[in-house]
Amino acid sequence: MSDPADLAAKVESGELRFHELEEHADADTAAAARRLLVEEQSGADLDAVGDYGFPAEVADSAIENMIGAAQIPMGVVGPVSIDGAAVSGDTYLPLATTEGALLASVNRGCSVIDGAGGATARVTKSGMTRAPVFRVADVAEAEALVSWVRDNEQVLKEAAEETTSHGELLDVTPYVVGDNVFLRFRYDTKDAMGMNMATIATRAAADVVEEETTASLVALSGNLCTDKKPAAINAVEGRGRSVTADVLIPRAVVEEKLHTTPEAIAEINTRKNLVGSAKAGSLGFNAHVANVVAAMFLATGQDAAQVVEGSNAITTAEVKEGDLYFSVSLASLEVGTVGGGTKLPTQAEGLDVLGVRGSGDPAGANADALAEAIAVGALGGELSLLAALGSRHLSSAHESLGR
Ligand code: NAP
Repeated sequence: MSDPADLAAKVESGELRFHELEEHADADTAAAARRLLVEEQSGADLDAVGDYGFPAEVADSAIENMIGAAQIPMGVVGPVSIDGAAVSGDTYLPLATTEGALLASVNRGCSVIDGAGGATARVTKSGMTRAPVFRVADVAEAEALVSWVRDNEQVLKEAAEETTSHGELLDVTPYVVGDNVFLRFRYDTKDAMGMNMATIATRAAADVVEEETTASLVALSGNLCTDKKPAAINAVEGRGRSVTADVLIPRAVVEEKLHTTPEAIAEINTRKNLVGSAKAGSLGFNAHVANVVAAMFLATGQDAAQVVEGSNAITTAEVKEGDLYFSVSLASLEVGTVGGGTKLPTQAEGLDVLGVRGSGDPAGANADALAEAIAVGALGGELSLLAALGSRHLSSAHESLGR
């Protein structure tokens, strides 16, 4: 059966189910049939949604109930010179967004970074976490479980690593709250963002905990992981990649290109990003790191919900011998260059712009490089926005570019 109208009619008559159409037709036909059903029910015209440029079957592992694609404009900033441990040289950074003025602003920041000789970036910690919660009888049993875990980390490691050829269990950190014991498993997931990998591996390790101790698994994710929710544990301990980028910008470059001074940028950073964020109870002590993280996540096929953790970042600015030292540190940037949305054609091309599609050599190097590139993009974005505030150009730039 290959006619979308026939398929749609069969769903309406109850002969077929809306979510099972791929079992009766190819993925593009199934999506077309769903568009007909949704158009009829809602009155919406889905011509643009249906005008996508890849075979629907490649999105098979990325979405269910597909009707088409939401297209987001993609652009680049740079090239910007990056001195990273995993990426180096002049690099264009791909960003997908609907926020007018964002790329212009980040591009300006990157051009200033370039004028200063480029940015340095390093991943300083790496590890994807999953933290199941176990029920125990009382605090004595909780302590016994903690001791057992300390004595048997190798056993847990072997069980977890049987489920993956790339992942490595790095450590297991127990947390006790009354009769709840959380075990925070941390993995090196190489070039994968690793959330599926860590979940599957932790399931195997949790089975061993249940077999060997009195603890009962209540939930494979006990929210101390912490995935897709604002959480101090990610900001402090890190999750995914902890990555920092910095640059020393000569005073003359700040004055000529940004029309402000190192002192003004340092003061704005202190009063806004540090004091203002502290007063607001923010986890992120930055101006708009989420903008670059979100746009580069969308351009390269990352899990967009993890922008929550990705924007756990602190921006610093100080005057050093008259020049501006500027840095941004992202504590929990969860990125991958294999798996998930990285397989989609446009997102894979976004990774190609950075030269990081697929497995790195050694494994993990491509995801490190992606993290370094995002950190440099965030550095450019922070620099440009603080400078715009310093020179009081922020509202005029948005008036002319974003409306
Ligand atoms: P995945 O696509 O499930 O797994 C990555 C795969 O890539 C693994 O099977 C791994 O094989 C393989 N691989 C090949 N080359 C690799 C390399 N160089 N480095 C690392 N792995 C390599 O992706 P994932 O990163 O684990 O999970 C990301 C997905 O999880 C996203 O779609 C995201 O939306 C979703 N997600 C899941 C959860 C959850 O709780 N399950 C939560 C949030 C997001 P081996 O493992 O056999 O080595």
